[in-house]
Amino acid sequence: MPELPEVEVTRRALAPHVEGRTLESVAVRERRLRWPVPLRLHEQLAGRRVERIDRRGKYLLWRFAHGTLISHLGMSGTWRVWPREPGRPVPLPQVHDHIDLLFRAHCIRLTDPRRFGALLWSAVADGPVEGHPLLAGLGIEPFDPGFSGEWLYRLTRSRSAPIKQVLLAGDVVVGVGNIYASESLFRAGINPKLPARRLGRARCGLLAAAISEVLAEAIAVGGSTLRDFVGADGVAGYFMNDAFVYERAGQACRLCATPITRVLQGQRATYYCRRCQRR
Ligand SMILES: [Zn+2]
Repeated sequence: MPELPEVEVTRRALAPHVEGRTLESVAVRERRLRWPVPLRLHEQLAGRRVERIDRRGKYLLWRFAHGTLISHLGMSGTWRVWPREPGRPVPLPQVHDHIDLLFRAHCIRLTDPRRFGALLWSAVADGPVEGHPLLAGLGIEPFDPGFSGEWLYRLTRSRSAPIKQVLLAGDVVVGVGNIYASESLFRAGINPKLPARRLGRARCGLLAAAISEVLAEAIAVGGSTLRDFVGADGVAGYFMNDAFVYERAGQACRLCATPITRVLQGQRATYYCRRCQRR
């Protein structure tokens, strides 16, 4: 499942091809994504200019003067960029290629085999897109200057669930999915089973710093694959080539050689080092 770093790398790959450019047409071959793709998308968007493409959590926000196209990659979605050049036709759509956004010089194609992705329209007339039901409940961005140990501390005082699960819930801070939650907690030396409200200010500070670092590093690794992304294989896999704990059950901790432990928390696998994560 694409997590925040994959979505941010996708945004960076798309931006130079769509920002400031006019959308010529929209081809919808399959409307049945997580929610139905709006019927009149072509009429709403053809001839309109994309002003900017932003990210909020794992949503991409394609901003037009008259509204915002909200997209989500779901479990298996990818956006690919195909050049439209004479003598170099865009490949014919395959069975999972559901949407094409056609610009003069590029075809931006959404492929989504499992169809848990989304493409929705929010008109300016409906109010600010930030108030859209999908976006309104999201926590702070991990790279927002307001995200800090103090923020984490304040928002976890009444949370008795384990800190790992509070991070996954996404209402305290967005973008910390299963992989990056395990890795951030390892980096901060914090036991993932610890009730969130028992984290003091010092540990909250370590954890907030670890989250920002782990996500920024993953984006940097993914960014180095951008050239392959354009017109080729989409954003593949996770940008975590050398995880410290994730999917390393039974293998030696890279810091202390203790075998990495795997437990289930809310149906999700958590990986941690019993020795390094005792805070
Ligand atoms: Zn260890």
